[in-house]
Parts: sequence; structure tokens; C-alpha cells
Amino acid sequence: MHNYTIAELVKGLQNKEFSSVELTQHFLDRICQLNDDYNAIITITGEQALTAAALADKRLASGDAPAMCGVPILHKDIFCTDSVRTSCGSKMLDSFIPPYNATVVENFARDGAIMLGKTNMDEFAMGSSNETSFYGPVKNPWATDCVPGGSSGGSAAAIAARLAPGATATDTGGSIRQPAALCGISGLKPTYGRVSRWGMIAFASSLDQAGPMARTAEDCAIMLNCMASFDEKDSTSVEQTVPDYTASLGNSVKGVKIGIPKEYFSEGLHPGTELAVRKAMAQLEAQGAELIEISLPSSDLSVPAYYVIAPAEASANLSRFDGVKYGYRCENPKDLQDMYCRSRSEGFGEEVQRRILIGTYCLSAGYYDAYYGKAQKVRQLIQQDFSEAFKSVDLIMGPTCPSPAFKFGAKGDDPVAMYLEDIYTIATNLAGLPGMSVPCGMVEDKPVGLQIIGNYFDEARMLNVAHQFQQITDWHHQAPEAM
Ligand code: GLN
Repeated sequence: MHNYTIAELVKGLQNKEFSSVELTQHFLDRICQLNDDYNAIITITGEQALTAAALADKRLASGDAPAMCGVPILHKDIFCTDSVRTSCGSKMLDSFIPPYNATVVENFARDGAIMLGKTNMDEFAMGSSNETSFYGPVKNPWATDCVPGGSSGGSAAAIAARLAPGATATDTGGSIRQPAALCGISGLKPTYGRVSRWGMIAFASSLDQAGPMARTAEDCAIMLNCMASFDEKDSTSVEQTVPDYTASLGNSVKGVKIGIPKEYFSEGLHPGTELAVRKAMAQLEAQGAELIEISLPSSDLSVPAYYVIAPAEASANLSRFDGVKYGYRCENPKDLQDMYCRSRSEGFGEEVQRRILIGTYCLSAGYYDAYYGKAQKVRQLIQQDFSEAFKSVDLIMGPTCPSPAFKFGAKGDDPVAMYLEDIYTIATNLAGLPGMSVPCGMVEDKPVGLQIIGNYFDEARMLNVAHQFQQITDWHHQAPEAM
């Protein structure tokens, strides 16, 4: 059963081939048996899952249950879950038990999806390798000496290892797409505002967006149908009808104009990755899509702009963790100042502290215009590049990240090398555009991702083209040897 896609599980459940309780038990058994090998899941909610599955079976018996009813999934540990620890991968929140569900969690619960547990992640979603988690790194099921990507590496590795058919994730600068690429699965970051951020622990509020991860584009569409909603509780949520993302999956790709930015095939791109990505695009061309070379001239400014804006917003967002209101408090503080200082120094890891320092510096009087103000201007240039490009193309494609999964420690001492992992993904967050990654090949026995960027609220078209690509390829069905 663990090899079924969500679409297949939905059919199986609705045709009563198996019950949700059986399915849930099967995944819980697999998690018990295999999770220690990958460290992908940090909280397992077995009892709760079986109770929910029994309820889902009743709903399924009535015959009009929503698609996700009875389907087991995992939630990234950045989403608040009522009465279940939500750590955000940090010592700071190691004992934080929220009294409410994030809207995303609530939407899945509403439809009867089953939460199996919470996935490991880089601390406060800062990282590209999952090495910054307080709970230790996640191992890539394709090569356990390599990283799974980050920050949603736990969700990606769990799906690759068949510990769940789908999982929620978040993407501030690439954290859905890069781990999806490195673990050989599909993942979609929706348009900013499409999915509610309420109850999702904030990293950089103007960039954060939640999205689905699963093995196939079709499964991402099924999950997005449930995740996407207008939410009054999130002031940046966009009031726009949620289409049925599965409805257009079968459309032909004939005549779809695909822009290929020359800047995405620059120095630093692994030749094997380039080959796989170019081959994938040629396959789509053979199906009738039109490939058009384009330019996104401000591309090289996206990483520097992001590493001003994201830390600036993070430094503000993380100021709430002060030892008073939430989470960790140091022992025996001398006075209030000592409590703030030590709670934050002991509760946050090195990368989080680095970001808070950078962000605070960039926002300080005297430096604000030079750094933050300038980065916001660059952000506009990046947005304009995309608006210009989308006048002549429907989608943009390129690699998701520069190379396949790297070894643990390979970039640990060099934050800038790590920051370059997101060189192709960050621009879409700065522009608020949707982006996804689908597996498109193997290099050195490790998966490679094809990135598909769409115009605002054009997720249906991205999913359609990704699904059509998956009809003519089988990369998304390949599994690590141990599976
Ligand atoms: N790797 C990027 C960072 O560390 C992006 C992380 C994310 O998307 N959450 O900021």
C-alpha cells in the first residue's frame, strides 16, 4: 500500500479495497520500522491517527467523503497542531504545545485526512540541508550520507522513503522545491496568498508560503484542492475562488509556451543536472510545447536581496521568543536582561542567531536605506523581469537547484555556499509567484528536479504540464533501492 500514490489511495478507500484504519496502521508500522534510518519524523501521533482513521472510515461508508478523507499525511513541524508539540526544529520550541490548529492543518482535518505525525526541518526553516535542526539532520533515502535538502527535508525524505504518501511543507526561498528535487519527489509552492499562513510559524512573512509535497503532480493537485482557501485570519490571504486543480490535468501541452531563462543555465550548474533538465524540456517540446529562450536579467541579484529581506523579517518575527511568552527559558536568570540574553542564546542555534544578527543590522538606523531599502528596490526589478517574461510565455522552466544532493558537512562551514543552493528558487518568492519541482532524471544515482514557474494563480497550468510530463516519464515512480 505504501507504493500507491494519493490518487490510487483515494480510489482504494472509496472502493473499499482497504479501510483508512488499515492504511493508517500500515504507514505507522513502516514509520516505526524505518524512521530511525532517516530521522524524517520527529513526533508520531499514532493513537490520534487511528482514532481519526476510524472516523474517516465512517465518513467513507456514507459515500460522499472528500478526496483526502482517510488518506494519511504528515505535517511539517512548522504548522501549529492542537495539543501536539510544534517545535519548528528548534530547542526554543521543544516543549511548545499549541492550543489550536494552523488553517492548513484544519483544512486537512476538515476533509478527514489523517495526521501521522510531524516532520523534521531546519531550525525555523532556515537552511537548505536540514543540518540546522535541533533534532539532528534528516538523511536522504537515496544516499544516506547525503542531505535531503531543506528546510522541508523531513517531509521530502518521508515521502521518498514511503513513510507517507504526502506531506505539507513551506517555502520561503526554496524549501519545498529544493528538497523535493533532492529527494526525487514533486512539490509545489503556490502563489503568495493562495494558502493561509495562519498558525504557520513565521520566518519571513512576505515570502513564506505553504504547499504540498507528494510523489506526483496529480497528488499535489489533490492536496492543494484541500490546502488552498481564503482565510480571514491571514491578512495576506487572497480572496479568490479555489479552482479544482485536478480538472485540467488531462489538457494537452500543445502550444504551451515555455520560457527558458538563459541565466538559469549559468556557471555553477552541474553538467549532469543541465543535461537532465534540457532533456526534460525537449520531451515536452516533442509533445507540442514551444520552447522560447528568455532573459531574467536581475537573476543574480536575487540571492543578495533575499539574504537582506529574509533575515530582516526573521529578526522581527523571532523577537517574540524572549523566554517570557513562548518556549525555552534559561535557568536561574540574574535579571530580566540576563533572561532575554541567555534564553535566546541557549534556545536558538547558530544559523538562526546569524540571521537575527544580519537582520537586526540591516534594519538598524543608518543602515536601513543602504540595505533593506535597496533590497526592496531589487525585489521590484525581479518582479518586473517576470512580468516582462510572462507577456510572451505561459510558464518558465529550468533546474530547481544547481546540483544533486551533497554530502553532510560539505557546505556546513560556508554559509554563502549553502545560500547558493537556492539560486534558482529564491526569485519566485521575492516576486510572490508559484513554482514547483518535479523529478526529471538521475545524476550520480541521485535525483534531479525540473523547476516549473507559473504566473500568479496559474497553479492549474503548472500542475497540468507537470502531470503531462509524468505521463511520458517515470522518474516520479522510481524509488530508492532500500524501498
Ligand atoms: N534555504 C533558504 C534559507 O535558508 C530558504 C529556506 C526556506 O525556503 N524556508 O533561507
